[in-house]
Amino acid sequence: MSELKEMYARMGIKQEVYEYGKAVLEKLESRFREIDQNAEYNQLKVVRAMQECRVSEACLLGTTGYGYNDLGRDTLEQVYAEVFHTEDALVRPQITCGTHALALALMSNLRPGDELLSPVGKPYDTLEEVIGIRPSKGSLAEYGITYRQVDLLEDGNFDYENIKKAINPKTKLVTIQRSKGYQTRPTLSVKRIGELISFIKGIKSDVICMVDNCYGEFVEITEPSDVGADMVVGSLIKNPGGGLAPIGGYIAGKKDCVENAAFRLTSPGLGKEVGASLGVLKDFYQGLFLAPTVTASALKGAVFAANLYEPLGYAVVPNSTESRHDIIQAITFGTPEGVIAFCQGIQAAASVDSHVTPEPWDMPGYDSKVIMAAGAFVSGSSIELSADGPIKPPYAVYFQGGLTWQHAKFGILKSLQAIVDKGLVDPKRLKL
Ligand SMILES: *Cc1c(COP(=O)(O)O)cnc(C)c1O
Repeated sequence: MSELKEMYARMGIKQEVYEYGKAVLEKLESRFREIDQNAEYNQLKVVRAMQECRVSEACLLGTTGYGYNDLGRDTLEQVYAEVFHTEDALVRPQITCGTHALALALMSNLRPGDELLSPVGKPYDTLEEVIGIRPSKGSLAEYGITYRQVDLLEDGNFDYENIKKAINPKTKLVTIQRSKGYQTRPTLSVKRIGELISFIKGIKSDVICMVDNCYGEFVEITEPSDVGADMVVGSLIKNPGGGLAPIGGYIAGKKDCVENAAFRLTSPGLGKEVGASLGVLKDFYQGLFLAPTVTASALKGAVFAANLYEPLGYAVVPNSTESRHDIIQAITFGTPEGVIAFCQGIQAAASVDSHVTPEPWDMPGYDSKVIMAAGAFVSGSSIELSADGPIKPPYAVYFQGGLTWQHAKFGILKSLQAIVDKGLVDPKRLKL
């Protein structure tokens, strides 16, 4: 369609990049069909949960003040429990972000003298301060909760032998991060998480297995809570908020675990009974309704990016053909210039703040400068088209999101155009 090509040209995508993108896309038909099928299944799963819980128009209204008897809030928590097949859930605007949700789940379920174990290597950067790996006020370490870590093996497999050795009478909670986060290790499939949990429960059956589910929701048709996780935890400004939730986090899991979290979030004795939902419920419901298709759009963008950049010689994780278990695409540029050009290209594709140029900065919670491209309707929302790159070796960017596939595609083409324009890739190499 020549109109489309002209439109891209007007948006700054030159002929070579456009044609290269088109050639890449032609090979992805069956991958995209598979993504759409998962989205279809998950769409039905969400609608079914809403029907089962008898979501009504009244649920979309919020409360103020204490928020006693908040029908919409309580029903939404049932819907989440239904979607994740858990006994209970805590889904609140008072949970400010993913890190907060994870910190809440950890701090409320661990007691002084307990030990936390990560059998999948270093957790997400911001959790280092929560745990106290990097000293911080109020960390678990300050409360006398110790931490052990077993890294993945060189080939990405679990180090079962050392995991077994690490589990001891103090081990109370195991944290398993599904997504790679800011690392280039593989993301864990739900199946592999299930295998790890059975191994751990085989050694110590009463240990709480928590999964950091950030970026993983609705990528597959099952969730870690379907394979034995006692708690799944995530952010509503990622997948499950569907781009509409303006804030929030969730914890879904065993009744006890969720109750502990509620008592910590509000107050002992009050728990889930308080916490006004204000005006966010309609967006929480509608966002969850959209989440399966929004996640699918982001996933298509990630697959497209891998297939666009891999032939140009950049290392991509996951690679162009691998199966997907989260929406993040890591691309290693090897130089700060590559990372910066990529992020500036993504920013230039935004619908909000496309005119600003992102620069690396010292972000709270991170141990190096980070450049972030985020022209989002919801500030910092990374289910929207976004990219972040810590300015440290191996100089990789982590790209994610796109509320629609069409926008994700445009963003990726813009990123490549920025890289070509900076002279980092010769346009003559844009061939399959
Ligand atoms: C994003 C993310 C977090 C933290 O969420 P924030 O909302 O940024 O605080 C934790 N773990 C993983 C794997 C993440 O991707």
